[in-house]
Amino acid sequence: MIPFSPPRIDDRVIAEVTAALKSGWITTGPRTKKFEKNITEYTGCKTTVAVNSWTMGVQVLLSYWGIKPGDEVILPAYTYCASANVIVHAGATPVMVDLNEDDFNLNIEKVRAAITPKTKAIMAVDIGGLPADYNELMNLINEPEIKAMFNAGSDFQEKLGRILLLSDSAHSFGAMYHGKRSGSLADISSFSFHAVKNLTTAEGGALCFNLPQQFNHDEIYSEMCTKILHGQNKDALAKTKKGNWRYDVIEPGYKCNMTDLQAAIGLVELERYQENLDRRKVIFDAYAAGFKNESWAIQPLYESDVKRSSYHLYLLRIADITEAQRDAIIQEIFEQDVSVNVHFQPLPILTAYKNRGYKMSDYPEAYSKYANEISLPVYYDLSDDNVKRVIAAVKHAVKHVIG
Ligand SMILES: *Cc1c(COP(=O)(O)O)cnc(C)c1O
Repeated sequence: MIPFSPPRIDDRVIAEVTAALKSGWITTGPRTKKFEKNITEYTGCKTTVAVNSWTMGVQVLLSYWGIKPGDEVILPAYTYCASANVIVHAGATPVMVDLNEDDFNLNIEKVRAAITPKTKAIMAVDIGGLPADYNELMNLINEPEIKAMFNAGSDFQEKLGRILLLSDSAHSFGAMYHGKRSGSLADISSFSFHAVKNLTTAEGGALCFNLPQQFNHDEIYSEMCTKILHGQNKDALAKTKKGNWRYDVIEPGYKCNMTDLQAAIGLVELERYQENLDRRKVIFDAYAAGFKNESWAIQPLYESDVKRSSYHLYLLRIADITEAQRDAIIQEIFEQDVSVNVHFQPLPILTAYKNRGYKMSDYPEAYSKYANEISLPVYYDLSDDNVKRVIAAVKHAVKHVIG
């Protein structure tokens, strides 16, 4: 069976995790701090806070930014549930918008139409690893009429003076946009290092801050580190300094710090990340070439004049089929011992969001992209022969189901 997206665990990773274990320091410590610094350097952002998942990082962030009941956060209807769940947990309302016709990104004019005086943030999602249209989004939220509509509900919001631009960069580590790397494209970006993501720490995530110059990023770093560790003003490592036992709790914080065992994996992964991206691109190019002459294949956009994907998900679509036919094709692909997936079920079809009154019929682009989508395996260790097997399995399955 060709798996969908196994993590790359080899002797180097095992050696580094072993070294962390043997060091005697297994929770947040020197490896996590180094990992944060390396991410800041790699992405070109101003400061990075490592956390135990994308989800907890963004949840703490929304609270830090003062997002609360009555507020609205705009996001695409087509994303993983985590993007919306954290907004619900903040007590705010997820305002979903539909996608562009030609790619998987949220549509700027639909974002514009969704902005109200309650809008506090826009969360763009880099689906599959292709960055959203950040310049257009930034221009939109800086338009005088849009800025005039903004109501600040916290000191940070007042200081920014406009809607916050967030990036759900869970898929886009290493992606480029106008010569800049993901992590430095929005005010604040959030990565996921979950086991299936391009760069993994088993579970984990990072918040990359890239706010305008009126913000003090050293202060933000230190406040966020307090927030993710019970509100304690000293972390465990600082407390080990001689006689330095006393600490205070400034506020009831959360508990979602990254451990040095996770950072050990991340340090190795980051050091050899370009290799990973290069291999992924070879696989993407092979899929693109393999399906080029098939009239039913709608290929995903992964490179343009201004964007380069992180090659996270190959979002193949099959023209003119129903959801049931797509499911039958997937079944047939699995019969040939190839694992595929669907990214994503749009939020309005999930019970949690259907029950909150969202209707799939309000997001026709999201539905049509979901209904005929099949994500193909992409990972460093996927061999050329197995790429060929995937292509053959998909072609056979499509022929079998639609003739
Ligand atoms: C994986 C993922 C997340 C959540 O990441 P966790 O680290 O599992 O919390 C959020 N958004 C998108 C688009 C994802 O794919």
